[in-house]
Amino acid sequence: MQFRDIIGHDDLKRRLRLTVLENRVAHAQLFYGVEGVGKMRLAIAYAQYVCCEHRTPDDSCGTCPNCLQFQRLEHPDLHFVFPIVNKGQSGKSSVCDDFMAEFREAQLQRKYIGLSEWGAMISREQKHLTILSAEAAQINHKMSLKSYQADYKTLIIWAPERMQTEMANKLLKLIEEPPEKTLIILVSDDPKSILGTILSRTQPVHVDTLTEEQVAQCLVQNGVNMTEDELRRVAHLSRGSVLTALRIIEADEQRKQRSIIEQQNMMTDNAKDKQALPPLTDLDYFVQLMRQAWLVGNKKNYDALRQLKTWSEDIAKNMSRDQQINLLTYFENLIRENYVYNVRQPQINYMDKPEEDFAKNFARFIHAGNIEQINNELDLAIRHIAQNVNSSMVLFDLALHFILFLKAKES
Ligand SMILES: [Zn+2]
Repeated sequence: MQFRDIIGHDDLKRRLRLTVLENRVAHAQLFYGVEGVGKMRLAIAYAQYVCCEHRTPDDSCGTCPNCLQFQRLEHPDLHFVFPIVNKGQSGKSSVCDDFMAEFREAQLQRKYIGLSEWGAMISREQKHLTILSAEAAQINHKMSLKSYQADYKTLIIWAPERMQTEMANKLLKLIEEPPEKTLIILVSDDPKSILGTILSRTQPVHVDTLTEEQVAQCLVQNGVNMTEDELRRVAHLSRGSVLTALRIIEADEQRKQRSIIEQQNMMTDNAKDKQALPPLTDLDYFVQLMRQAWLVGNKKNYDALRQLKTWSEDIAKNMSRDQQINLLTYFENLIRENYVYNVRQPQINYMDKPEEDFAKNFARFIHAGNIEQINNELDLAIRHIAQNVNSSMVLFDLALHFILFLKAKES
């Protein structure tokens, strides 16, 4: 990965190159910022620049043996640690090396990938991803070796907030007493959840969001084929994250597919010829929750109450915890957008067409009298899901709260 492969972040790239040219590379750094802005790509490009034999002031050379191996993410002095699921059998724990092929594919082909996409790539079960304690021994071994061919050994850790205790202690020790010529880069969307003792010993490197123009360029670079107008719309909704933009595109596609299949099914009499529907989108789940909660609270419709139970069980069954957290974060954003819509400030509105269609009737239910409580309740649900509390209970409890929220009159 060379700096020139990465769109945007020009100022940051310049500052990173200067640390190498001026020989002041901090041994432990934290690249942080929102999901899907290219932090991992920057970390890899930076490490490659550090190891390149013929770097120029602008970039790594791209052709020396170190660069060539970096480009395939196969350099013997480049090590990755990332959250995984434990597939180990008979008491033997999985380690990151077991998932290296998938990880390379994710970084080289998909380029922008979040924990929920990564989870879906490596496991069909909806398990929570963690950096397992067993990784500590691996790291110990890898980092104690002399570097093979580059000056530096690099360890890149994705989502360090997911480390189990033993691994966290190992990392802390490495950061406190770093072997010579070692570069450790932590890459995180959620630095608040990293252990304070680790955080305080790393140099923070903030990776900013991209401009709408840059997001559009990244989408094109990623092979997205859309009209100028569509690109601009998605880039606008993305809030500077390529990953968010890709998720919007996927949800749009899912929604289109769903309505096509629904129509075909309607015209098919024979039940066995009906096709299975693609999964619901985040917006579908949002609409279901709000409709049913409103029906229970305002129309005393108890069938809707059963539907809410089904709603929470479906999500708990079909989504990983990371996906559930993404879903509730999406709810928070959409609630905020509806509030803004309700107080009529369309110029700062970030909804897409289907979201806005729903908001036309729904936005009036989100107002100064309930917005804060709603946000608190969503935050609480996110925290509980992250802490492994039973998801279907958390979600049903959330749904019951919404019955009351949607009854509350604006004060
Ligand atoms: Zn090179």
